Amino acid sequence: MKKRGIHGAVLLIIGLIVTGLSWWLNIRNQELKLLLFVVIGSVMALYGAIKLLFVKKVEEKVVSQSLAKEVANEVAQQKYKHCPTCKTTAHHHDGFCRKCGRNI
Ligand SMILES: [Zn+2]
Repeated sequence: MKKRGIHGAVLLIIGLIVTGLSWWLNIRNQELKLLLFVVIGSVMALYGAIKLLFVKKVEEKVVSQSLAKEVANEVAQQKYKHCPTCKTTAHHHDGFCRKCGRNI
C-alpha cells in the first residue's frame, strides 16, 4: 500500500517536471514541437494525483477495518478465555474448565 502511494507521488512529480520542462523548452525554441510532451506530462501528473487520492482513500478504509477487528478481538479476549489444557472456550468469570475441570 505504501509503495503504491509513493508510486502515485513519483508519477505526479515526474508528470509535472515533464510538463514544465517541455513547456519551458517550447517557449525558448519555437521550432521544437513539444506540445505532445506537455500533454503527456499533464496526463501523467493527473493520473498520479488520482492514484494518490484513490490509494489514500483505500488505505484509510483498510486502517479503519483493521482497527475494528482489533477492537472486536479485545472485546472477545475480555469476555472469553481458553483452558490451557484442553483449549475449551470458557467465560471470563468461570473459575474452572467445564470440560476437564482445570482451574483457569
Ligand atoms: Zn479444560
